[in-house]
Amino acid sequence: MLWNIFGKPQVIEVQKAAAARDFKERIAELSAHNVEGRLQTLALANQAMWEILSQKCGVTEEDLVNKMTEIDQRDNKSEGKVSGNFEATCPNCNKRILGNHLKCVWCGAKVPMRSPF
Ligand SMILES: [Zn+2]
Repeated sequence: MLWNIFGKPQVIEVQKAAAARDFKERIAELSAHNVEGRLQTLALANQAMWEILSQKCGVTEEDLVNKMTEIDQRDNKSEGKVSGNFEATCPNCNKRILGNHLKCVWCGAKVPMRSPF
């Protein structure tokens, strides 16, 4: 048993800290599980869209890979992912806005959507 400087047992504090740590770990597990489930759903939707597009429009896998490469290199980096680094100028205050925000981070004005993704 732990004792503090007043001679009182610190068991309750230790138990509270352990419970808080367990709670945070459980929340992290649930968040990871939700993200994984959402990712699987998006992968399923992507597969379905691809199959419809290739069957109905004749788009080939080569077309897909070429387009993926082109999109990947738009930020001058080939890292196999979309950068998401969008940049715009606020129509109200003319300050530079980084990211895909729907409102200006400086003045709160609505910013036209730059990408639906
Ligand atoms: Zn602004």
